[in-house]
Amino acid sequence: MIKPQHHAIVVIGAGIAGATIANELLERGQAVCILDSAPAPATACSSHAYAIAHPHIGRGSPRLLRLTHLAFLLAEDRWRSTWNQHGIFQPSKRDKVFDRSEIAKHLCNLNLDDAMAQALDAKDAQAVCGINQNGVWLPRGASLDLSTAAQDLLKPHPLLSSHWNTRITRLEKCDAGWKLFDESGIALMTAGKVIIAAAMESKALAASMGVRLPLRPVRGQLSIFSITANDPWVERLPRTAISGDGYCLPAERLDDGSYRWIVGSSFDEGEDDLRSRESSDQFNREQAKGLLNYGDGNTGTLRKFSSFIGVRCVAGDRLPIIGALVQRPGIFLATALGSRGVLWSALASKLIAAQVLGDDFALLTRLGFAADLVAALAPARFFAGALAAAPALGALASNSKPILPSVPRAK
Ligand SMILES: Cc1cc2nc3c(=O)[nH]c(=O)nc-3n(C[C@H](O)[C@H](O)[C@H](O)COP(=O)(O)OP(=O)(O)OC[C@H]3O[C@@H](n4cnc5c(N)ncnc54)[C@H](O)[C@@H]3O)c2cc1C
Repeated sequence: MIKPQHHAIVVIGAGIAGATIANELLERGQAVCILDSAPAPATACSSHAYAIAHPHIGRGSPRLLRLTHLAFLLAEDRWRSTWNQHGIFQPSKRDKVFDRSEIAKHLCNLNLDDAMAQALDAKDAQAVCGINQNGVWLPRGASLDLSTAAQDLLKPHPLLSSHWNTRITRLEKCDAGWKLFDESGIALMTAGKVIIAAAMESKALAASMGVRLPLRPVRGQLSIFSITANDPWVERLPRTAISGDGYCLPAERLDDGSYRWIVGSSFDEGEDDLRSRESSDQFNREQAKGLLNYGDGNTGTLRKFSSFIGVRCVAGDRLPIIGALVQRPGIFLATALGSRGVLWSALASKLIAAQVLGDDFALLTRLGFAADLVAALAPARFFAGALAAAPALGALASNSKPILPSVPRAK
């Protein structure tokens, strides 16, 4: 029997997460093998061409604020050349009193200077970014075409080998590290270190090693609307992105005077159906009215041009799962990117590369990582008492018992 080929590092999944991590390792001089069940990179959730990115500025969850700030800076740096910086406006909640100086103080406490975030009343917002609403203006907010970015990250490189149409279904410990099996039970290769970046399918791969990951799908549909030149919506269409209950991109004027406008997204918990739904487009039309504060808008004239439908992978605590699976030495996870694929993939590339290569923690500290942030992302957070506090995951663990069963026996 032919001995399976050995690779020092294998990445499973060539979405934005796997592609960014693979690229970081290549840049650091490592040979990397990347595998995907699809015939090309970024065919699943990362086929999304209109993903927005900005630091989180809400109240509460201080760790999320710090993590998204750090991740935003890493993402901006990584995708500088393809970053579509149009700015993003976040309207304040209309049922809340808008206290501009209070919000300015909050932004200052978050170390977000004027170049990053500005509290504006409706009059100033109209002057600065053309939105006649109270809120926060994020001038560096941007969007990224995840598909193009992933393909670019995986362009031919002397240290990169890519295997398409290759679905891994099982991992098993072996002397060389880990053995990777395909659907017909054939051991395709062995790897010293394996990075699992397979979104929802990370769950099955982890299960094949006896590890239970608390992942679930959230379907989402983004609508691309067409608006005729003389429609009343035209007067209202934004020239910047807006992120609030849903989000939209700046409207694009086409040569014939009509407009193309991207508005999203539906949020269908626990669903993974990729078929287009009229109800999701209708939901987005209603979101469009809310984003523009245009209660009288006639949703009937937002004509559907096309849509993007994807399945987000989320963990129970809504943070991504990024880091070494310490109970299975040599296995690393980068999954549960939820609705922040741009931010978390940039952050995952630095964190996973540092862990795979055994960097001194000082190197990560220099990038802005702190020990509590790394712990908040680590897979280990699900394997202790922390889980009992999260009702959605309560069934999976108790305070006293780790979720992980004993290490599987090598066959
Ligand atoms: C409607 C919608 C709107 C969104 N908006 C935004 C946004 O505005 N901003 C933002 O940052 N993010 C947004 N996101 C989220 C973003 O698209 C995702 O977080 C991101 O694409 C996930 O990347 P990934 O690499 O983890 O997963 P994927 O892109 O799904 O990649 C996983 C890859 O693994 C491969 N794979 C799976 N199983 C196996 C296996 N067993 N063997 C081999 N290969 C395997 C798959 O083929 C796939 O290529 C949105 C998502 C949706 C659905």
